[in-house]
Amino acid sequence: MSKTSKKIDLLGNTLEEIKNYFNQYEVKSYRAEQIFNWIYKNGVFNLNNMQNMPDSLLEDLAEIAQIETLELLGKSKAEDGTIKYLWKLSDGEKIESVYLPYEKEGRHSVCISTQVGCNIGCSFCATGLDGLKRDLEVSEILAQVVQIQKDISEDDFLTPSITNVVFMGMGEPMNNLDNVLDSVNILNSKSALNIGMRKMTISTAGVVSGIKELAVRNKQIGLAVSLNAPNDSLRSKIMPINDKYPLEKLIDSVKEYIEITNRRVTFEYVMMKGVNDTPEHAYQLRRLISDILCHINLIPVNPVSELDIYRPSQNAIEKFKKVLVEADIDTTIRKERGVEIEAACGQLKREGEKNGI
Ligand code: SAH
Ligand code: SF4
Repeated sequence: MSKTSKKIDLLGNTLEEIKNYFNQYEVKSYRAEQIFNWIYKNGVFNLNNMQNMPDSLLEDLAEIAQIETLELLGKSKAEDGTIKYLWKLSDGEKIESVYLPYEKEGRHSVCISTQVGCNIGCSFCATGLDGLKRDLEVSEILAQVVQIQKDISEDDFLTPSITNVVFMGMGEPMNNLDNVLDSVNILNSKSALNIGMRKMTISTAGVVSGIKELAVRNKQIGLAVSLNAPNDSLRSKIMPINDKYPLEKLIDSVKEYIEITNRRVTFEYVMMKGVNDTPEHAYQLRRLISDILCHINLIPVNPVSELDIYRPSQNAIEKFKKVLVEADIDTTIRKERGVEIEAACGQLKREGEKNGI
């Protein structure tokens, strides 16, 4: 067996891709199946711990393949069971992911990162503070899920099983769409974690080209759009991406997405005191989305120490909701999770000391 310069990452490729690759080196296909089984059904990420592999094969595999995992730098658990993980990547960069158990509903969600940092620059978000470092590889996206699965598992690797994956951690998923969709396909495959397409959601700040592409490439996965403001002048002020993709274009792309996929879209609206929380904003929002098949999630802003933003009162949030509900818009107020560990949306960032872990 000749040595290759670039080893295949067994965590970042589909079973078919691994089989084809092994084929070139005369490694039997069923070995790829065994490895997949070890990784995704048993949580074994080290080739040397895969017991049914003969030593000679392990030696060969060491030359042509690898399994790149994330180094756990820190972990903090909130009283409600939410766990925030800080990972170090092989080049030293850091990312975060969050595990959110909803015991009553039997839901075990993970919120994962797609980039190191983000270049969209929303004014209320901690992730964007240092700009974008780089996109995550497929293996780095997948590793967050399988390593959290391993961490939460009890006697058996898949108990409890992660049921939902949301691409709402650090980064803009539409700006790394190829890798996001490749990881989605692997997470969904029966031979891997078998997570339903409809149990995965991509959240975007409103990258219209990405929304259009998603509608064509994957009609099953959920789409969430971070609206956060009901008119162009305010939206451009807090989300600079609105200059490139103003509301009319964004809303048109959402309508087109719904037409193609037949799926209901979620709008996210981060509520900030004195910024976007007045009844007038609620009426504008209602006019903007009332004829769209959607659900709206009102998110009381999470504090970011460097930023001067505050939550509206509960009363103001309820009033805002009422205006939407009156127009029959399905509206929820997002419940806080993991408050004391800063594990919520917009609070994830890569600087170690800011992570509190
Ligand atoms: N880049 C994507 C996904 C990651 S951000 C996006 O923007 O949609 C995930 C969500 O966190 C978005 O809805 C965003 O509006 C929200 N968010 C950002 N900063 C926040 C903060 N400080 N408090 C609450 N939500 C925040
Ligand atoms: Fe990037 Fe989303 Fe944060 Fe905006 S809210 S800076 S798009 S991660």
